[in-house]
This record gives sequence, structure tokens and C-alpha cells, in this order.
Amino acid sequence: MLIHLNDVLSCDGKVIFQTVDLEMDSFDSGLGSFPLIRKEPVELTITNLGEEKLKIEGRTELAAVIPCDRCLEEVKTLLKLAFNKEVDMKQTAEGRIKDLDETDFIIGYNLDVDKLVYSEILVNWPMKTLCREDCKGICRKCGTNLNHGSCSCDTVELDPRMAVIAEIFKNSN
Ligand SMILES: [Zn+2]
Ligand SMILES: [Zn+2]
Repeated sequence: MLIHLNDVLSCDGKVIFQTVDLEMDSFDSGLGSFPLIRKEPVELTITNLGEEKLKIEGRTELAAVIPCDRCLEEVKTLLKLAFNKEVDMKQTAEGRIKDLDETDFIIGYNLDVDKLVYSEILVNWPMKTLCREDCKGICRKCGTNLNHGSCSCDTVELDPRMAVIAEIFKNSN
């Protein structure tokens, strides 16, 4: 959704509040496509700081479905976003991208809320996602989810260091 900034830019010190629904239903990045199962409306406060500078403050709460790093089971992950940006409307689009070091969410005199939130999700994306701290993962041989049960695979073989030790024992007998 685009917010027209002409109104707030009309006079210095002007503040506008707006609540905006996100259009995107998933977060698509190089890592994959992650469904957003909860989207709170984005609460935005835009302040005209003078000299065509705007302060954009916003907050929202989202929940994304991210697979567990170890067992791939779906994990509902809460993303609490709160951001505060300053945008110089006098700058060219290229200059702004360089300054903010992220996707440009200002198009002409419009603010692209989805783009802005997208870049915030990217920054706040969890480094690690686990279904639980002690997730046992899946057996690399048969694919059994080891949180739900064990398998009868010879897991010793899977660790090369252990395999070397086993080999030494075998030869010494
Ligand atoms: Zn897991
Ligand atoms: Zn197995």
C-alpha cells in the first residue's frame, strides 16, 4: 500500500498518523517463502522535520512460519517490529538507497509500506530457528524426526571421527 506524502510535506512540523494493512501474505527472500500467519496493521507516524525531511516511525507485530533449522518442522515465529527512519525527500532515489543501505521504499512522493516493512523483517529475521532448544533433529540416514521417536540406524557411522576410532578398535582385535 502506498501512502501519499504530499499532505505531510505541505507544512513543516506537520504530523500524520496512519494505520495500514500489509498486502504481502508471505515473506519471500533468498532463503525461501515464509507464510505470514498473523499481520497486525502497521501503525505509522510521519513527521515533517522541515527542509523536506521526514521522520517515519512505525510498529507492527507479525507471525511467520519458519522451518526448524534441525528437523524442518514448522515454527510459528513472532516478529515484533518497531522502526524509526529519517528520509530526506530532497535526495535522489540512488542517494537514499546508498544512505539507508537497503531497498528504497520511497517512490516519488509516496511511501511504499510493504517495502518498508519487508526491509524491517529482513533486518529482524531470526539467525536461528529451532522448534525447541533441545531439538534432536532428523536422522541423516533415514529421515526420522528424532523428537518423535528413534530409528535403528547405526549412527556411529555418520560421525567420521567415530568411524576412525571404530576402525582402530576393529583392527586391534
Ligand atoms: Zn526441530
Ligand atoms: Zn535413522
